[in-house]
This record gives sequence, structure tokens and C-alpha cells, in this order.
Amino acid sequence: MSLSLPGTYNRRMTEVLRQIHARAVTAAARGTVASYIPALSLADPGALGLAVVDADGCTCAAGDSGTRFTVQSISKVLALAYVMTERGEDAVFSRVGKEPTGDPFNSIIRLETSAGQKPFNPLINAGAIVVSSLMPGSTPAEAIGGFLAFTGRLLGRSDVSLDESVYASEKATAARNRSIAWFLKELGLVPADVEDTLDVYFRQCAVLVDAVDLARIGAELSLDGVDPVSGARVLDARTARVCKSLMVTCGLYDGSGEFAVDVGVPAKSGVGGGILATVRDRMGIGVYGPALDAHGNSAAGLEALRLLSAELDLRVL
Ligand code: GLN
Repeated sequence: MSLSLPGTYNRRMTEVLRQIHARAVTAAARGTVASYIPALSLADPGALGLAVVDADGCTCAAGDSGTRFTVQSISKVLALAYVMTERGEDAVFSRVGKEPTGDPFNSIIRLETSAGQKPFNPLINAGAIVVSSLMPGSTPAEAIGGFLAFTGRLLGRSDVSLDESVYASEKATAARNRSIAWFLKELGLVPADVEDTLDVYFRQCAVLVDAVDLARIGAELSLDGVDPVSGARVLDARTARVCKSLMVTCGLYDGSGEFAVDVGVPAKSGVGGGILATVRDRMGIGVYGPALDAHGNSAAGLEALRLLSAELDLRVL
């Protein structure tokens, strides 16, 4: 059938993305750009970029798909994959749980009240800060250097860099993340210097990506760790599956349940406006729309994913 011809599929997919872009872009007006990290407030609230990398490694895109933005919390999936690869699954999950919280991403409350007194999962700030503390390296520069090299292997490029002004802006204003990190220190979950650990976390959040980059990582996860562009295995299959499972239950924080009902695929969002989604054996999807809803998820990006899921019958849940 004609859809199996890459060229035909590409043209059809590009047309689908263009149409969905036109319909979803108005949803940006329902959100606002993050301002608690002051440098993020400079983003264009009306921007919307969409990209798909399919299982054959073909890329299709529409709108602001080449605009670079900071990966923010989507880095939590990358950091989890990196630390699982370097140090093994037990190193992470002896210190961090696998359960959703139903709380906002930067909530501190359950650290004190839960029985185990460890962060609920690696995709909330508390869990991610513990994961950052586990990156190999004796200095923040060494730790982030390894993380950037790992991310570059997933993205198929060696020029992965940070937005230094977003990094500096978060570092200068992160009272809540400092509170979380000091609480974790008191629980014995951050062995290294707290400010050094936070420095790694702030840097990983400031990594620059575009929607196509996110789609490629999504495609790698969809194929359980094989990059459809290069054909190389970039992640262990178990690591990819653990990441995807946590993305289903925790990837959009206290918006995860609604997203599972509406879209039905594993995904991870960030306050920079990105969402990475992955559809088993079929494709990765990257979206960028910096105007956020009340949970900190891209308003237009969510709308685009709802429309795309319905149009292409992507639901796997
Ligand atoms: N760097 C951000 C923070 O820690 C990431 C949050 C997010 O993307 N949800 O607040």
C-alpha cells in the first residue's frame, strides 16, 4: 500500500503535521511562558514546532521545528538513561522510587511525609536531583561533560551545548530546588556537595535542543534503544523500557493521567516548552511550544499531540 513507500509517507506525514500545526497553534493563547526562571520568559509565546522521526529514520517537521530551546525536565529522562547506563539500575532505584506523585514537579511535601523518605520517581525534581548526583565524575564539569557526550550520541551530533543565560538565570533564582536538595542531603541521598549537585542539575536542564532532536530520541525509545537514523543501538533495551514506563505514569507530573487518557503514549515535558513522545515501534514525536498550562506542560504542544494521536491512531495505552 502506498503508505509503505517512504516518499509517499513523508509527504503525507508532512501534510498531517502542517494541518495539525495550523489547528493547534491557537491553543498557545491558553498558556503562559514560564517566568520563575527569568530567562525563560523571553521565549515567543506563540511559537509551535512539530517533528516526527519514524521507524525508518525519516524526519518530517512543521512550524518552529528548528528553534532551539532548553530541554529542562526532559533532561530527567536523559539523565536517568545515562546513569542507568553508567551505574546500573540498582544505583538509581535504591535511592529513588518508581511511583507517581500527583503533585507538581517541584513539590517537596512528600519527602518528609512518605514512609520510605526517598523521592517518588526520577522525573520529579527531587528524584532528578538524586540522579544528577549519581553521574560519574569528580567535578560538575566532568559530570556534565559525560552527560553531554551521552546526549550527543542520542542526537547524532557532537555540538550539544547549553544556553548559558538560562543556566545562570536558574542558578541565581532556584530557592525551591535548593530547599529540595538540602532536604535530600539531610536524608543522606546527596552524598556530594549540594551546590555542585545542583550545578549539574541546572546545566543538564539548560541543554539546547529542537523539536527534531526530541523526535529522534523518541524514535530511539520507540525501538527500545536502536537509532533508526544510524541503525546503531544507543540505549540498552531495558533502560529504554524503564524510561518509557516512568514517562507513562510520571512524565507530565500532575497532568500525566489526563495525558494518558487524551493521547495514550509515553511522553515527557519540560518548562522550556518541549514535549518528547514515543510510539512503540512506530515513531518519536518532538513538540515545542513555550506557553505552558497550569501543570507546566506546553499548551499548544498538548493540543498538537491530542490531534496527532487521533489522526494517526497512535494510542498504545
Ligand atoms: N529546571 C526546571 C526546574 O527545576 C525544570 C522544571 C521542568 O521542566 N518542569 O524547575
